[in-house]
Amino acid sequence: MKSWTSRPVPALPGNMPAIRLFDTAAGRVVELEAETAPSMYVCGITPYDATHMGHAASYVAFDLLNRAWRDAGQDVSYVQNVTDVDDPLLERASATGVDWQDLAASQIELFHTDMEALNVLSPDRYVGAVESIGLIVPEVERLVSLGLAYKVQGSNGDPDGDVYYDVEAAGKQSVSPEAWTLGSISGLGESDMLELFAERGGDPGRAGKRQALDPLLWRVEREGEPSWPGGSLGPGRPGWHIECTVIAQKYLPSPFTVQGGGSDLIFPHHEMGAGHAFSLAGVPLARHYAHAGMVGLDGEKMSKSKGNLVLVSKLRAAGEDPAAIRLAILTHHYRSDWSWTDEGFAAAKADLTAWRRALDHTPAGSAGPLIAEMRAALAADLDAPGAVAAVSRWARQANDGGAAASAEDQALVKDAVDALLGIRL
Ligand code: ZN
Repeated sequence: MKSWTSRPVPALPGNMPAIRLFDTAAGRVVELEAETAPSMYVCGITPYDATHMGHAASYVAFDLLNRAWRDAGQDVSYVQNVTDVDDPLLERASATGVDWQDLAASQIELFHTDMEALNVLSPDRYVGAVESIGLIVPEVERLVSLGLAYKVQGSNGDPDGDVYYDVEAAGKQSVSPEAWTLGSISGLGESDMLELFAERGGDPGRAGKRQALDPLLWRVEREGEPSWPGGSLGPGRPGWHIECTVIAQKYLPSPFTVQGGGSDLIFPHHEMGAGHAFSLAGVPLARHYAHAGMVGLDGEKMSKSKGNLVLVSKLRAAGEDPAAIRLAILTHHYRSDWSWTDEGFAAAKADLTAWRRALDHTPAGSAGPLIAEMRAALAADLDAPGAVAAVSRWARQANDGGAAASAEDQALVKDAVDALLGIRL
């Protein structure tokens, strides 16, 4: 599937120091390997309610990592999926009387426009679930033949043949220290897992499953739902976790460097995806798992049902500068949960104005130390608020001085804020 268009990233003199990142599975900040070609998979949207501030913050967070790697001279491979068929999309389409394909296409288009406006670098491959079904089916069949997946008999209106992953069998398949067992990624106990599984699209009570936490791999066709050929599985459509696993394994090395997403993807999505990958390949899916915090509105959880979704497209339509939206996001550390507020956005707009004014008064010799400060902050677990504070200190000094700009430093500061923070002054 076509991705969006990236703006070019200016090259800066010098290099980003070694990058440290909080790894959810390790439970601590780790130093990323100094590899020449790091690779990243960030879970994409299910195309409805695009692009709310939670999405935006998550893609901006991993865009910082992408930019940090590039600044370190590394050649990044970046893959993102789009779950262009799944229950929530079909439910939204039928609730609003829209064809599900039209809903998906229009929301994907909107998401791309928002990503371009926010200056998020595009993935090298942007891959849809639907276009990947031919890759996914043989992998589900393989899990069945390995004895790590099984078909469930129909009951309560569900037909025969839905395929589930056997988490217990999968957890016993290997004793290697890298082997996956349930909890390897999330570190959660069973009661927390059960609660989150039910909350986030799982079906712990489905009759005939071997364990309550076994996730769906293949949903056989139902009347009124789209379906695709499934070989020995019968016509149907794939589960969400196997979708990401197969796409990542197809287009990235095994293991790749970082899997990213919002913290609501830690369990079950990334936990199960890691399990599927180990079952299929005998090696971990990713070396590191990183997660962005959740974004609320004025202290409340943001949700369609509460009617309080802050959409990037609505802010843009109201004439707001996307660079200010991005700066408002970057004033929060990517791992923290935070709230979008009018005050926070107003402060970001004021900062952006001050930064732009300061360019005309850029002191000679100020660019080098500023770039070093920004790099040090970003290399320390993507501390964007630290980098933003450094730029604001520089801007205050420049504006207070009020002298004419050094042309060389002015150009460097402009490039650095663009290359490292993705903000065009
Ligand atoms: Zn995913």
